[in-house]
Amino acid sequence: MKNHLYTLRTFLLSLIALLSGYVLIVGLSVRSNENRLNVRILTNSPLDSFRLKKFDLAKKKKGKNYVEATVSQNELQQIKKSGFKVAMVSTRGRNTSIPPFYKTLEEIESDLHRLQLKYPNILAVEKIGESTALKLPIWAAKISDNAAESEDEPRILFMGVHHAREPIGANICLRIMESLCEGYDTDNKIEEWVDDLEIWLVPVVNPDGYKYVMDNNLHFPWWRKNLRDNDGDGLFNPLYDGVDLNRNYDYNWDEGGDGKPNSWFYRGRSPFSENETKSILRLALRENFVIGISYHSYGESILFPWGNYNRPPDLELIVEIASEMAARIRKESGRGRYSILPLNGRVGQSSIWMYGQLRVLDYIVEVGTEYFPAEEHIDFILDEHLKGAYYLFDKMLNTGVSGHVYDGETGAPLLAEVEVRELATDYVQPRRTDPRFGSFHRLLNPGYYTFEIRSEGYHPKIVSDVRVRRGRFKELNVGLRRKNKVLSNGASN
Ligand SMILES: [Zn+2]
Repeated sequence: MKNHLYTLRTFLLSLIALLSGYVLIVGLSVRSNENRLNVRILTNSPLDSFRLKKFDLAKKKKGKNYVEATVSQNELQQIKKSGFKVAMVSTRGRNTSIPPFYKTLEEIESDLHRLQLKYPNILAVEKIGESTALKLPIWAAKISDNAAESEDEPRILFMGVHHAREPIGANICLRIMESLCEGYDTDNKIEEWVDDLEIWLVPVVNPDGYKYVMDNNLHFPWWRKNLRDNDGDGLFNPLYDGVDLNRNYDYNWDEGGDGKPNSWFYRGRSPFSENETKSILRLALRENFVIGISYHSYGESILFPWGNYNRPPDLELIVEIASEMAARIRKESGRGRYSILPLNGRVGQSSIWMYGQLRVLDYIVEVGTEYFPAEEHIDFILDEHLKGAYYLFDKMLNTGVSGHVYDGETGAPLLAEVEVRELATDYVQPRRTDPRFGSFHRLLNPGYYTFEIRSEGYHPKIVSDVRVRRGRFKELNVGLRRKNKVLSNGASN
């Protein structure tokens, strides 16, 4: 019955694809039996590799628990019948319909590592996780002085390619990295930013989807999601598989996207069900970013958190930053600047979660006027978005309150909530300190604020009339007093 239903569904989807034109072309090229398939066959023991030898396909890499092979559909069926689990399937080669100046996933990786070798003091590359289907590394780069160490500095995050068909975000991340590395010794502004900030970049959040778009010889590079095997059949079926990573974050997750796997906006089985979003979750919790940017395409606009939901308490500052950034980024036509728009607060997008749960001032930037901008527009686009990033670096160090929370007796740094009472709500979490240093960094508009500092096991402390002046960072260091310990006999000391 299940098979029958599946066939019917596939038929209906194909019919829809037929009616909508371009998907048909893609559907056919992906499903064609003439394509050789690039597969990864999981092996549990040396015996498995030996058994695969009879297929005369496998090139085993040392120390890996899989072999990669290029096979026909027929051979693939034989391998699966022999009881092997096949981790992924895609057709092979480079997508010749995408202009060659767009980098493949491998080219982006080698750019990252080349930069790290060239600038080891100010650039560190870290693998923050593996993709869901192909287990490809997800890379983060950090640019800062003493890049190999975690320093007590405010952090900013740039991300690209949540969506497979939106490569320009990776190009912008690389451009930011190159300009900071190359300018560090010659440009005083860049030196200040690199010395005083930690600038984090994840150029490709969705390596599976990106690889699929770049390597498949599709006539139209349309893929959006990751390659999650929704139906668990070990094959990649573009009409049913994949999760929209930018609907998989855990804030109003169940209200956004689509619950049906065949949708381009499928939000996944549960929040953070995908390795890609989990990797961003871990990084964001650890690094406690102040500002975040996620590049998408397209639309020439900056989207801020949020509309269609309870009013964001930091709205004025959020809009000010969006407006100031947008004012620095010219549209491709040369007429006018980027516009600003609210995101829908009832969708589990990265910026909604970043702001709602971590109080990162987080934005989605919709770059350009098409998914794959023509070569003659690329340099212009990258230059404009570099100006946007430069504005943010200045803003990070411009106006607000920063300081440390520590144990008043021992001086040990504390994990604490740093609530600004005038901006407190129950639907946006307070900023917290970085427990490695006890530090916090909060952008605020000029004014007077009341700070409430809370840490488990300590008496909370309220600091009133904290004055913020434009162009300055007020320093606020707060020692907390430990609550009396209750001894096992009930007495206090
Ligand atoms: Zn997108």
